Amino acid sequence: MQNIVDLIIIGGGPTGINCGIAASEAGLSHLILEKGVLVNSLYNFPVNMTFFSTSKLLEIGNTPFISHGDKPTRREALEYYRRLIEKYKLNLHLFEEVLSMQQNADQVYHIHTNKGDYYAHSVVVAIGFYDTPRLLNVPGEDLPKVKHYFDDPHPYVGQKVLVIGARNSACDVALETYYKGAQVTMAVRGEALHDKVKYWILPNIENRIKDGSIKAYFNTHVLEIRPREVVLEGPNGVLPSKMTSCWP
Ligand SMILES: Cc1cc2nc3c(=O)[nH]c(=O)nc-3n(C[C@H](O)[C@H](O)[C@H](O)COP(=O)(O)OP(=O)(O)OC[C@H]3O[C@@H](n4cnc5c(N)ncnc54)[C@H](O)[C@@H]3O)c2cc1C
Repeated sequence: MQNIVDLIIIGGGPTGINCGIAASEAGLSHLILEKGVLVNSLYNFPVNMTFFSTSKLLEIGNTPFISHGDKPTRREALEYYRRLIEKYKLNLHLFEEVLSMQQNADQVYHIHTNKGDYYAHSVVVAIGFYDTPRLLNVPGEDLPKVKHYFDDPHPYVGQKVLVIGARNSACDVALETYYKGAQVTMAVRGEALHDKVKYWILPNIENRIKDGSIKAYFNTHVLEIRPREVVLEGPNGVLPSKMTSCWP
Protein backbone atom coordinates (compact mmCIF):
# COMPACT_ATOMS: atom_id res chain seq x y z
CA MET A 1 0.00 0.00 0.00
CA GLN A 2 1.18 3.57 -0.73
CA ASN A 3 2.27 5.97 1.98
CA ILE A 4 -0.91 7.43 3.52
CA VAL A 5 -0.85 10.91 5.09
CA ASP A 6 -3.36 12.00 7.71
CA LEU A 7 -4.59 15.01 5.75
CA ILE A 8 -4.36 16.28 2.19
CA ILE A 9 -5.32 19.90 1.65
CA ILE A 10 -6.27 20.92 -1.87
CA GLY A 11 -5.43 24.59 -2.44
CA GLY A 12 -2.55 26.66 -1.13
CA GLY A 13 -4.52 29.86 -0.47
CA PRO A 14 -5.01 31.45 2.97
CA THR A 15 -7.58 28.78 3.95
CA GLY A 16 -5.35 25.88 2.84
CA ILE A 17 -2.34 27.36 4.65
CA ASN A 18 -4.40 27.84 7.81
CA CYS A 19 -5.52 24.20 7.63
CA GLY A 20 -1.88 23.15 7.13
CA ILE A 21 -0.85 25.11 10.23
CA ALA A 22 -3.66 23.54 12.28
CA ALA A 23 -2.68 20.06 11.05
CA SER A 24 0.96 20.65 11.87
CA GLU A 25 0.08 21.95 15.37
CA ALA A 26 -2.10 18.87 15.96
CA GLY A 27 0.78 16.59 14.98
CA LEU A 28 -0.95 15.34 11.82
CA SER A 29 1.05 14.51 8.73
CA HIS A 30 -0.19 16.69 5.90
CA LEU A 31 0.35 17.65 2.28
CA ILE A 32 -0.90 20.84 0.62
CA LEU A 33 -1.39 20.57 -3.15
CA GLU A 34 -1.51 23.90 -4.99
CA LYS A 35 -2.02 24.11 -8.73
CA GLY A 36 -0.16 27.42 -9.10
CA VAL A 37 2.18 29.57 -7.05
CA LEU A 38 1.84 30.00 -3.29
CA VAL A 39 -1.47 31.86 -2.63
CA ASN A 40 -2.16 31.76 -6.36
CA SER A 41 -5.39 33.79 -6.24
CA LEU A 42 -3.77 36.59 -4.24
CA TYR A 43 -0.81 36.58 -6.59
CA ASN A 44 -3.24 37.26 -9.45
CA PHE A 45 -5.04 40.12 -7.67
CA PRO A 46 -4.54 43.64 -9.14
CA VAL A 47 -0.89 44.56 -8.69
CA ASN A 48 -1.61 47.73 -6.72
CA MET A 49 -4.50 46.39 -4.66
CA THR A 50 -5.10 47.06 -0.99
CA PHE A 51 -7.17 44.52 0.94
CA PHE A 52 -10.61 45.47 2.21
CA SER A 53 -9.85 43.82 5.58
CA THR A 54 -7.35 45.07 8.14
CA SER A 55 -4.16 43.05 8.54
CA LYS A 56 -5.33 42.09 12.05
CA LEU A 57 -8.44 40.41 10.60
CA LEU A 58 -6.37 38.49 8.06
CA GLU A 59 -3.89 37.11 10.61
CA ILE A 60 -3.56 33.34 10.90
CA GLY A 61 -1.28 30.96 12.77
CA ASN A 62 -0.84 33.30 15.76
CA THR A 63 1.56 35.24 13.58
CA PRO A 64 1.36 39.05 13.45
CA PHE A 65 0.63 40.47 10.01
CA ILE A 66 2.64 43.68 9.79
CA SER A 67 1.52 46.22 7.23
CA HIS A 68 2.39 49.87 6.75
CA GLY A 69 -1.23 51.05 6.52
CA ASP A 70 -4.27 49.74 8.39
CA LYS A 71 -5.15 47.67 5.29
CA PRO A 72 -2.37 45.54 3.85
CA THR A 73 -1.30 45.59 0.23
CA ARG A 74 -1.03 42.55 -2.05
CA ARG A 75 2.78 42.72 -1.79
CA GLU A 76 2.65 42.69 2.01
CA ALA A 77 0.24 39.76 1.94
CA LEU A 78 2.51 37.72 -0.36
CA GLU A 79 5.40 38.37 2.04
CA TYR A 80 3.24 37.34 5.01
CA TYR A 81 2.24 33.99 3.47
CA ARG A 82 5.85 33.27 2.42
CA ARG A 83 6.88 33.80 6.05
CA LEU A 84 4.13 31.51 7.35
CA ILE A 85 5.24 28.69 5.07
CA GLU A 86 8.81 29.02 6.35
CA LYS A 87 7.81 29.36 9.99
CA TYR A 88 5.59 26.26 10.04
CA LYS A 89 7.65 24.26 7.53
CA LEU A 90 4.48 23.25 5.77
CA ASN A 91 4.60 20.35 3.36
CA LEU A 92 3.52 22.11 0.19
CA HIS A 93 3.68 21.04 -3.46
CA LEU A 94 3.33 23.97 -5.86
CA PHE A 95 2.28 23.75 -9.51
CA GLU A 96 0.54 20.48 -8.77
CA GLU A 97 -3.11 20.44 -9.78
CA VAL A 98 -5.58 17.96 -8.32
CA LEU A 99 -7.45 16.37 -11.21
CA SER A 100 -9.60 13.82 -9.40
CA MET A 101 -10.32 12.39 -5.98
CA GLN A 102 -12.06 9.23 -4.89
CA GLN A 103 -12.58 7.34 -1.67
CA ASN A 104 -11.57 3.69 -1.90
CA ALA A 105 -13.42 0.82 -0.24
CA ASP A 106 -10.98 1.02 2.71
CA GLN A 107 -12.12 4.67 3.29
CA VAL A 108 -8.75 6.02 2.14
CA TYR A 109 -8.83 8.95 -0.30
CA HIS A 110 -6.95 8.60 -3.54
CA ILE A 111 -5.91 11.96 -4.99
CA HIS A 112 -4.73 12.10 -8.56
CA THR A 113 -2.74 15.14 -9.75
CA ASN A 114 -0.95 16.19 -12.92
CA LYS A 115 2.25 14.89 -11.31
CA GLY A 116 1.30 11.75 -9.40
CA ASP A 117 -0.97 9.98 -6.91
CA TYR A 118 -1.40 10.45 -3.16
CA TYR A 119 -3.40 8.79 -0.40
CA ALA A 120 -4.90 10.34 2.74
CA HIS A 121 -7.24 9.49 5.59
CA SER A 122 -8.91 12.92 5.30
CA VAL A 123 -9.11 15.68 2.70
CA VAL A 124 -9.86 19.39 2.96
CA VAL A 125 -10.94 21.08 -0.26
CA ALA A 126 -9.90 24.74 -0.01
CA ILE A 127 -9.98 25.80 -3.64
CA GLY A 128 -11.81 29.15 -3.24
CA PHE A 129 -13.83 30.57 -6.12
CA TYR A 130 -11.38 32.94 -7.78
CA ASP A 131 -10.92 30.73 -10.85
CA THR A 132 -14.63 30.52 -11.63
CA PRO A 133 -15.74 33.91 -12.94
CA ARG A 134 -19.46 34.48 -13.20
CA LEU A 135 -20.06 34.67 -16.92
CA LEU A 136 -22.69 36.83 -18.59
CA ASN A 137 -23.42 34.23 -21.26
CA VAL A 138 -23.96 36.84 -23.95
CA PRO A 139 -22.64 36.84 -27.53
CA GLY A 140 -19.16 38.37 -27.78
CA GLU A 141 -18.08 37.55 -24.24
CA ASP A 142 -15.18 35.56 -25.68
CA LEU A 143 -13.74 38.57 -27.56
CA PRO A 144 -10.12 39.29 -26.52
CA LYS A 145 -11.08 42.75 -25.20
CA VAL A 146 -13.34 41.23 -22.52
CA LYS A 147 -11.54 40.62 -19.22
CA HIS A 148 -12.86 38.77 -16.20
CA TYR A 149 -9.77 39.66 -14.16
CA PHE A 150 -8.26 43.06 -13.56
CA ASP A 151 -4.57 43.46 -12.83
CA ASP A 152 -3.26 46.85 -13.85
CA PRO A 153 -5.01 50.09 -14.95
CA HIS A 154 -2.22 51.13 -17.32
CA PRO A 155 -3.50 49.32 -20.46
CA TYR A 156 -6.80 51.21 -20.15
CA VAL A 157 -5.27 54.69 -20.43
CA GLY A 158 -7.08 56.57 -23.21
CA GLN A 159 -9.58 53.72 -23.71
CA LYS A 160 -13.35 53.57 -23.35
CA VAL A 161 -14.01 51.02 -20.63
CA LEU A 162 -17.32 49.44 -19.68
CA VAL A 163 -17.39 48.02 -16.16
CA ILE A 164 -20.24 45.55 -15.65
CA GLY A 165 -21.36 45.22 -12.03
CA ALA A 166 -21.54 47.42 -8.97
CA ARG A 167 -19.91 45.64 -6.05
CA ASN A 168 -16.57 46.49 -4.45
CA SER A 169 -14.28 45.20 -7.20
CA ALA A 170 -16.35 46.81 -9.95
CA CYS A 171 -16.33 50.17 -8.15
CA ASP A 172 -12.58 49.85 -7.51
CA VAL A 173 -11.90 49.08 -11.16
CA ALA A 174 -14.11 51.94 -12.36
CA LEU A 175 -12.30 54.41 -10.08
CA GLU A 176 -8.80 53.11 -10.77
CA THR A 177 -9.16 53.12 -14.55
CA TYR A 178 -10.92 56.52 -14.46
CA TYR A 179 -8.09 58.06 -12.39
CA LYS A 180 -5.52 56.69 -14.84
CA GLY A 181 -7.25 58.33 -17.79
CA ALA A 182 -9.87 55.91 -19.12
CA GLN A 183 -13.35 57.01 -20.15
CA VAL A 184 -15.43 54.81 -17.86
CA THR A 185 -19.05 53.68 -18.09
CA MET A 186 -20.74 51.30 -15.65
CA ALA A 187 -23.61 48.96 -16.53
CA VAL A 188 -25.49 48.01 -13.38
CA ARG A 189 -28.23 45.39 -13.30
CA GLY A 190 -29.86 46.79 -10.16
CA GLU A 191 -31.28 50.20 -9.50
CA ALA A 192 -28.27 51.34 -7.42
CA LEU A 193 -24.70 50.44 -6.49
CA HIS A 194 -24.56 47.30 -4.35
CA ASP A 195 -25.44 47.93 -0.69
CA LYS A 196 -22.28 46.08 0.43
CA VAL A 197 -19.87 48.52 -1.25
CA LYS A 198 -17.36 49.51 1.43
CA TYR A 199 -18.00 52.79 3.17
CA TRP A 200 -14.68 54.28 2.08
CA ILE A 201 -15.27 53.45 -1.61
CA LEU A 202 -18.94 54.45 -1.81
CA PRO A 203 -18.72 58.27 -1.54
CA ASN A 204 -15.94 58.38 -4.09
CA ILE A 205 -17.75 56.37 -6.74
CA GLU A 206 -21.10 58.04 -5.99
CA ASN A 207 -19.58 61.47 -6.43
CA ARG A 208 -17.85 60.51 -9.68
CA ILE A 209 -21.20 59.27 -11.00
CA LYS A 210 -23.01 62.36 -9.71
CA ASP A 211 -20.61 64.80 -11.36
CA GLY A 212 -20.72 62.79 -14.61
CA SER A 213 -17.04 61.86 -14.72
CA ILE A 214 -18.09 58.20 -14.63
CA LYS A 215 -21.29 57.42 -16.51
CA ALA A 216 -23.52 54.76 -14.91
CA TYR A 217 -26.56 53.04 -16.42
CA PHE A 218 -28.78 51.41 -13.78
CA ASN A 219 -31.46 48.76 -14.32
CA THR A 220 -29.39 47.88 -17.37
CA HIS A 221 -27.96 44.63 -18.66
CA VAL A 222 -25.68 43.59 -21.49
CA LEU A 223 -27.30 42.04 -24.56
CA GLU A 224 -24.24 41.65 -26.75
CA ILE A 225 -20.59 42.60 -26.94
CA ARG A 226 -19.41 43.52 -30.44
CA PRO A 227 -15.87 44.33 -31.59
CA ARG A 228 -16.54 48.12 -31.55
CA GLU A 229 -19.55 48.47 -29.26
CA VAL A 230 -21.58 46.89 -26.50
CA VAL A 231 -25.37 46.61 -26.73
CA LEU A 232 -27.07 47.45 -23.44
CA GLU A 233 -30.73 47.24 -22.58
CA GLY A 234 -32.06 49.66 -19.99
CA PRO A 235 -35.43 51.02 -18.89
CA ASN A 236 -35.62 53.10 -22.08
CA GLY A 237 -34.82 50.24 -24.42
CA VAL A 238 -31.71 49.18 -26.31
CA LEU A 239 -28.65 51.37 -26.18
CA PRO A 240 -25.53 50.68 -28.26
CA SER A 241 -22.52 52.11 -26.50
CA LYS A 242 -19.08 52.33 -28.15
CA MET A 243 -16.44 50.64 -25.97
CA THR A 244 -12.94 49.54 -26.76
CA SER A 245 -12.41 47.59 -23.53
CA CYS A 246 -14.78 45.75 -21.32
CA TRP A 247 -14.44 44.49 -17.77
CA PRO A 248 -17.32 42.41 -16.40
C1 LIG B 1 -9.72 41.94 -5.43
C2 LIG B 1 -10.09 41.08 -4.22
C3 LIG B 1 -9.95 41.59 -2.95
C4 LIG B 1 -10.27 40.80 -1.83
N1 LIG B 1 -10.09 41.34 -0.59
C5 LIG B 1 -10.42 40.58 0.50
C6 LIG B 1 -10.26 41.10 1.82
O1 LIG B 1 -9.84 42.25 1.99
N2 LIG B 1 -10.58 40.31 2.87
C7 LIG B 1 -11.04 39.03 2.69
O2 LIG B 1 -11.28 38.34 3.69
N3 LIG B 1 -11.20 38.51 1.45
C8 LIG B 1 -10.91 39.26 0.36
N4 LIG B 1 -11.10 38.75 -0.89
C9 LIG B 1 -11.63 37.41 -1.01
C10 LIG B 1 -10.39 36.52 -1.01
O3 LIG B 1 -10.14 36.10 -2.33
C11 LIG B 1 -10.58 35.37 -0.10
O4 LIG B 1 -10.87 35.83 1.22
C12 LIG B 1 -9.36 34.48 0.00
O5 LIG B 1 -8.55 34.43 -1.16
C13 LIG B 1 -9.97 33.14 0.28
O6 LIG B 1 -8.92 32.25 0.48
P1 LIG B 1 -9.09 30.73 0.07
O7 LIG B 1 -7.80 30.06 0.46
O8 LIG B 1 -10.36 30.18 0.60
O9 LIG B 1 -9.26 30.75 -1.52
P2 LIG B 1 -8.17 31.17 -2.62
O10 LIG B 1 -7.31 32.27 -2.13
O11 LIG B 1 -8.90 31.35 -3.90
O12 LIG B 1 -7.24 29.88 -2.70
C14 LIG B 1 -7.64 28.70 -3.34
C15 LIG B 1 -6.40 28.06 -3.93
O13 LIG B 1 -6.74 26.78 -4.44
C16 LIG B 1 -6.00 26.57 -5.61
N5 LIG B 1 -6.67 25.54 -6.41
C17 LIG B 1 -7.88 25.65 -7.04
N6 LIG B 1 -8.18 24.47 -7.66
C18 LIG B 1 -7.14 23.63 -7.41
C19 LIG B 1 -6.87 22.28 -7.78
N7 LIG B 1 -7.73 21.56 -8.53
N8 LIG B 1 -5.70 21.71 -7.37
C20 LIG B 1 -4.83 22.42 -6.59
N9 LIG B 1 -5.04 23.70 -6.22
C21 LIG B 1 -6.19 24.29 -6.62
C22 LIG B 1 -5.97 27.93 -6.29
O14 LIG B 1 -4.88 28.04 -7.20
C23 LIG B 1 -5.80 28.87 -5.09
O15 LIG B 1 -4.45 29.17 -4.78
C24 LIG B 1 -10.77 39.50 -2.01
C25 LIG B 1 -10.92 38.99 -3.31
C26 LIG B 1 -10.59 39.77 -4.40
C27 LIG B 1 -10.77 39.18 -5.78
